[in-house]
Amino acid sequence: MHTRSTALALVTLLCCHAASAQAQDKAHHRDGSFQNNYIEFEPKGLAKLLQWKWQAMLSGFPQPSKQSTAQAAPDVDFIHANARAGTAMQPAVTWIGHATTLVQMGGLNLLIDPIFSERASPLDGLGPKRAQPPGLSLAQLPHIDAVLISHNHYDHLDSASVRALALQRAGSPLFIVPLGLKAWLADEGIGNAVELDWWQSHDVGAVEVVMTPVQHWSGRSLTDRMQTLWCGYALFAPDLHLYFSGDTGYSPDFIDTRERFKQRQGVDQGGGFDLALIAIGAYEPRWFMKDQHVNPAEAVQVHRDLRAKRSLGVHWGTFGLTDESLDEPPRALAEARRQAGMSENEFGVLPIGGTLRLPRRDVGATAASGSAGQVPQSRPAPLR
Ligand code: ZN
Ligand code: ZN
Repeated sequence: MHTRSTALALVTLLCCHAASAQAQDKAHHRDGSFQNNYIEFEPKGLAKLLQWKWQAMLSGFPQPSKQSTAQAAPDVDFIHANARAGTAMQPAVTWIGHATTLVQMGGLNLLIDPIFSERASPLDGLGPKRAQPPGLSLAQLPHIDAVLISHNHYDHLDSASVRALALQRAGSPLFIVPLGLKAWLADEGIGNAVELDWWQSHDVGAVEVVMTPVQHWSGRSLTDRMQTLWCGYALFAPDLHLYFSGDTGYSPDFIDTRERFKQRQGVDQGGGFDLALIAIGAYEPRWFMKDQHVNPAEAVQVHRDLRAKRSLGVHWGTFGLTDESLDEPPRALAEARRQAGMSENEFGVLPIGGTLRLPRRDVGATAASGSAGQVPQSRPAPLR
């Protein structure tokens, strides 16, 4: 009897714990919309928008760039050979511009927040215009296994780009999207999609894709704000652990993310994220942007909170969205690094079209098991 009541108490305790963990995981769900974990975010209205634009006009912002974003000829031969290498793939990322990044890991080719269009805008011929061509054109891409979308702002979810990708020769990639966007994709004629909530995961081949919370918002018009979810991603494969911040303000979400995954990122398991892709642009003026976009100094703190081994700044240099000039983010990042005593190798940027090759985190394990075969020796590329 005593044993039975103890067991019952234990079951009740476990159930309550599971229920409260579930409630905690759903705290960002509101009636028909979503909210951030650490602030009650309200998208700024038209009056604030006009105040920002008026002040920017009076102050002459954004100032023109002193130099255009560095652009490198993509190493298409490497990218395509690597795309077909299967288990011998070398983990690599290629920055296509803005947040658009090709990630090669776990034998797969993943594309994050693809935009190849001339404008990040719903309007033909109006809205933020691309300052640089994409580092890889749609035609130069290898076969894409999965497309990851962080949220529905026009600079991250581009109708023409996702439609083109769905028509790739060997069949549509799988689209992984936050809650609310599967229906949007269906309206675009795209059915091969998986919708996730924060902390939910989906396996694509050897890559486990986990959706992570960040502090941002969503909306493609004035009437659909916060109605679909926004997110970052943590990707886990034996050869690489990669993090992508999406768009985000600074919040404790990054410490939460590190804590969530610490069981699988111990020192004897290869440590923390091998690479974090962190947004470093679209942050001025701070009174308007601080809640939704980190500046480079905050991005350095995000890198530290995640305990990433290395980070690359993305979400800059392509579309002029805010008051800082297009070439300011890497300069501000250099200053933030100097103040933090951090090397450029630890947190730098790539030229558009540039590829960073990374060491495999499992190379010791696979070498010991004799299956490392044709894994190319890692040659960390210098950051330019
Ligand atoms: Zn956004
Ligand atoms: Zn953005």
